[in-house]
Amino acid sequence: MKRRKFIKNTSLTSIGLAIGASVLNCEENKNKKSHPMTSTKNRVPKAICTWGFVNANARAGEELSKGTKALDASIAGVAVEEENLKNTTVGKGGAPDREGNVTLDACVMDSNGDCGAVVCVENIANVAALAKHVMEDTPHVMLAGEGAEEFGYSKGFEKENLLTEDSKKAWEEWKQSPEYKPIINIENHDTIGMLCIDKDGDIAGACTTSGLSYKMKGRVGDSPIIGSGLFIDNEIGGAVATGMGEEVMKTVGSFLIVELMRNGMSPQEACEEAVHRIVTKNDRYKDFQIAYIAMDKTGEVGAYCIHEGFTYMRYENGINDNVKVDFYNKA
Ligand code: ASP
Repeated sequence: MKRRKFIKNTSLTSIGLAIGASVLNCEENKNKKSHPMTSTKNRVPKAICTWGFVNANARAGEELSKGTKALDASIAGVAVEEENLKNTTVGKGGAPDREGNVTLDACVMDSNGDCGAVVCVENIANVAALAKHVMEDTPHVMLAGEGAEEFGYSKGFEKENLLTEDSKKAWEEWKQSPEYKPIINIENHDTIGMLCIDKDGDIAGACTTSGLSYKMKGRVGDSPIIGSGLFIDNEIGGAVATGMGEEVMKTVGSFLIVELMRNGMSPQEACEEAVHRIVTKNDRYKDFQIAYIAMDKTGEVGAYCIHEGFTYMRYENGINDNVKVDFYNKA
């Protein structure tokens, strides 16, 4: 509590310095570890996810209400979008790379600190579930490309053509003047990142995407990278990212947010600080969107983004709300 007050009364720059120093200070962190958050004031099952993915978040929330654990609820939730043919940024129906290949990235992280990821996977829609298999059934954390795909078939995943007629048509139109230009909040990227806290108060999450539309072949963003697209520490909380993955990776955004919460920031303060780390580096932020959502061990939620237009879903006590998010670029 004292630390929270201290942070609130300190300028952002010095917060960065103070937090940076303490993250590196093993002695201090050792002490913090022995004081996990214990308040239960908001601790009821809760699902949150990036953007307005109403059905996905409702599915996760309903699973949590039935008593499903946080990881399985997250995977069931994001699967709704992985299977939604109308969603051109996640799973089947996702926009392809420049050469017409739909390649998917996903990761999951569980309350016990285990995690799994797959990158550049073709022909399998439910890549978050596949990432869970990597976590549980291999000695590895991440599988890529053909290896991930073959592993998926060995686990019973179906081979499917992920390029729908609509996505193919849009790609063919794009090829007429093939310029790659991120458009803020517009449908050339929109990952679903989800965090769930279950009835036992355990937190887990999943993050799944087809990445940037018309990306270079082989490009992988932040979404399947543990610590960038998603990070969970069940003693502290979790965070997920969406937006320009390259910039999230440079600041290891989700891990940063969880560490900031460990050091006393609220989820809201931590999301804001993670965005500030990006925008203070240079002016390029004017051309791309990045958004974070975070939840701590008490179930408190925070979110922040660079540009207006980002929303997230929050399911709690049977109510599934779409929440508008405050943003940095008010100029
Ligand atoms: N972060 C994703 C990526 O860079 C895209 C997004 O979330 O919009 O692949």
